[in-house]
Amino acid sequence: MSDSWKNALQGALRNSIKDSKQSPEEGKLVYSTDPSLKAQCSKCKELKAACVCEPEVDASKAKYIPVLRIEKSGRAGKTVTVIDQLPKTELFLRDLTTKLKKKCGSGGSYKMDGKEGVIEIQGDKREIIRAEFLKQGIQVKG
Ligand SMILES: [Zn+2]
Repeated sequence: MSDSWKNALQGALRNSIKDSKQSPEEGKLVYSTDPSLKAQCSKCKELKAACVCEPEVDASKAKYIPVLRIEKSGRAGKTVTVIDQLPKTELFLRDLTTKLKKKCGSGGSYKMDGKEGVIEIQGDKREIIRAEFLKQGIQVKG
């Protein structure tokens, strides 16, 4: 690019900046062409881009990372799948235990006596349980 072209371009750029400063549009938000930013917030009716609402808290997506492990329980040494590090909420544990028992087709129970909520499902059901959590967008360790 020659110097004269460069100068002409820089001049044009300076002029356009000057123009935009003099324009009555000054101060108005320049909206992006990204359609997701043009969506309205359902709460405040502002554009998503301008919305400052707190995101909805979905209790089913509460932040926790279940840890799966296999234990042998009782004298018979039966295998149980232990789901550790769960929220220690009775309702949550009861519902989840019921659901997992149904999914796994086996017995199970929950415990609230430790620091975290714990669910035990009979048998090695790690794959089924992991899949269930992942379906809800919850990552699982172990
Ligand atoms: Zn909003």
